[in-house]
This record gives sequence, structure tokens and C-alpha cells, in this order.
Amino acid sequence: MAQAKLKPAFDVERTIAALRRALPQGIQRAPLHQPRFAGKEWDYVKECLDSTFVSSVGGFVTRFERQMAEAAGTAHAVAIVNGTAALHVSLLLAGVKPGDEVLAPALTFVATANAIRYCGALPHFVDSDPVTLGVDPERLRAYLGVNAERRGGDVVNRRTGRRLRAIVPMHTFGHPVDMEPLLALAEEWGLPAIEDATESLGSRYKGRPTGCWSRLAAFSFNGNKIVTTGGGGAITTDDEMLAQAAKHLTTTAKLAHPWAFVHDQVGFNYRMPNLNAALGCAQLEQLPAFLAAKRALAERYRRALAEVPGVAFVGEPPYARSNYWLNALLLDEEHSGERERLLQRCNEEGLACRPAWTLMHHLPMYRDCPRMELLVAESIGRRLINLPSGAGLVPEREA
Ligand SMILES: *Cc1c(COP(=O)(O)O)cnc(C)c1O
Repeated sequence: MAQAKLKPAFDVERTIAALRRALPQGIQRAPLHQPRFAGKEWDYVKECLDSTFVSSVGGFVTRFERQMAEAAGTAHAVAIVNGTAALHVSLLLAGVKPGDEVLAPALTFVATANAIRYCGALPHFVDSDPVTLGVDPERLRAYLGVNAERRGGDVVNRRTGRRLRAIVPMHTFGHPVDMEPLLALAEEWGLPAIEDATESLGSRYKGRPTGCWSRLAAFSFNGNKIVTTGGGGAITTDDEMLAQAAKHLTTTAKLAHPWAFVHDQVGFNYRMPNLNAALGCAQLEQLPAFLAAKRALAERYRRALAEVPGVAFVGEPPYARSNYWLNALLLDEEHSGERERLLQRCNEEGLACRPAWTLMHHLPMYRDCPRMELLVAESIGRRLINLPSGAGLVPEREA
């Protein structure tokens, strides 16, 4: 075919050269996502140590929660020990019970599915949208129309007879899910949505931050996320009762008393220590700078990869302003067989590129979970490569 001849071929070395061009000059080795400590981290951590309040008591936790609520555009934020625990408690507060099923993407980090299992429920995997990489609301609508039904006050999976109890949209690599149609669908079925916003701090959907679109949302501040507390997480909500319940459940369900230890349910030791919150306060102050740096880096990748045959840069959806937590490229389907080679060469070259996560239904513990047809997730899973994305890769003057 004449046309096929004209099309320049995909080439591993040409792709690596473009990635090198995208990175600022002088960068030899680029980790996938290095934290950046350019603000008041030392001051706040020292203040915390000097105060001796490094653990469960201290002012930085409250301060961090206020800053976090502002960043997520919610009335409340509750600081948590990590993002997985934030998801776990959010699901419990949404009413997820043992034996339920919870709709969640197959293309996600394992923590999403694990948190569902911690509740004794089963993840029910749904497919992704090829642009947003997150839950595809239209495909899910069609799927539920065939596979779900109302029984009494519940929504039930027709095949398994189990109750469908919630849906967890995850904003993949910081790119927001198309929330309006998803929330409309969730409302039609009476299913609460819980955003897994662990990757999307600072991302906006139609002008408003991710984490403010559902009744409860979970964030992560692990060392590789856009803002880090070392390890940490948060639950955001507009509902004061839910915020109080989240605080109670994550602080061993202890009743307030000057000295007595009285607990009114089986709570969790899931609070964020003051020492981590101190680091987080300094980090959150830099969120606007991190977002600017990451946008500048994404733009560099977008431009450099535009000229490379056989690959496409993953840009933000048209309605969104993404935080570009992890940049990504997608190989054209016909070149997916060369992904391992590209990964190997990138890593030999000091560019810490990574494949997409192994899809959840390919992991041994989730192999038998209910799922819809996952053609898009499978395709993304074969073709995607994450690129070095730390905010520190871009010189400050450029961001
Ligand atoms: C990071 C992450 C989590 C978990 O956060 P931790 O703080 O590491 O527990 C959950 N879900 C997704 C999609 C993540 O990327």
C-alpha cells in the first residue's frame, strides 16, 4: 500500500531522542517522580520536633486539614495515614458491607481494589475511556442497563445476586473522569460515588477541583505523589457529619475525655502524625508552583512527541485542567509489541519509564471478580508508558 510506505515507522531510538529533547538540557538521569522540597519543609519539621508533638497531637494536622480542604474545594478534610486507608474509610462511610460489589476501574493501582476487599466487598471491574483513561460513563450505563436491576431498595448484579453498593471513579495519572455523566448515572441507580483522587490533587474538572465532586473523596500524599507528607492521605467532604465520622473512625473511635479511654466501636489507628502534617503544610504551600512546573513539563513532552511516528502523548481531556501527575505516552496498537524494548532502552538510558499497572483482573487475588468487557483497559494496558514527571525536572524560571 502506497500510504503505508509514506508513513514513517515507529523507532525506539527516535522515541528516546524525543524524550531527551523534551527534558531540560543537562538532565542525565530522570527518576519517575522525585519529590521536591523547596519551601518551608525544614522550618516546619524543626518546629514540630522542637514542640515534641510529633505524633497524635499538634497543630500541624489541623492546619494541614484546612489547607487541604481549600485545595479540594470542600468544607472539610480529614488527614489520614495514607491514601489506601482514606479509601477504606470512605467506602465504610458510604455503607459498603461484606458481600457487596463496588464498581471500580480495572486500570488502577492495586490500592483501589484492596480497599474494597478490606470492607469484605468485591471489586466489580469496569472499562476505561480511551481519552480520559478513567471510567467510561456511557459504556457503564449500557452495561448496568443489562446487568443490574433494582430489588426492593437495592441495586443488584443480575448474574451474582450480590448488591452493587458504590462506584469509585479514579482520576488516572491526574486526568479527571468525565464526572457529570458519571454522577448522573450514579444518581439514577442510587449508588454513591467515591472519588479516588489519590493521583489528582490540583486537577480541575470544569473549573472545580477533583475531590469536591462526590460525597467523599480520597487523596494520597505518598512520596511519589504531587504533594508528599512522606506517607499520608486525606478524606474530603462537604458533609460535616461524614467528616466527624471519618475523624472518629480513624482515631480509634475514642470518645473525647480528658483522661479516660472509652471507645464506642472498632475504630482504626489511621490518623496522620503531626510530623507528617508539618511536611505536608510546607508542601501544600507549593502546590501552585508544582502545578505550573508539571504543566510546563507536559507541554515539553507534548511538543517533542508530536513529531514522533507511532506514539501519542496523553493530554488532558478537553473539559479538564489536569495536574499531569504522571505523564504518559501510548504506542499505536501495531507497535505495542515493542513496548518492552522501549522500556528497557529508556531505563538503560537513565529515563525511569514504567508500564501501566497490571490490570486488576490479571492479578491472582482479583482474577475471579465480576467484570465487564475490558477492551479499552486491555489496550491501554498493552500500550502505555509513564514518563519521568517530577516537578523538579523543570527549571523554576520556566514554570
Ligand atoms: C497512590 C494511590 C493510592 C494509594 O495511596 P497510598 O497513600 O500509597 O496508600 C490509591 N489509589 C491510587 C490510584 C493511587 O495511585
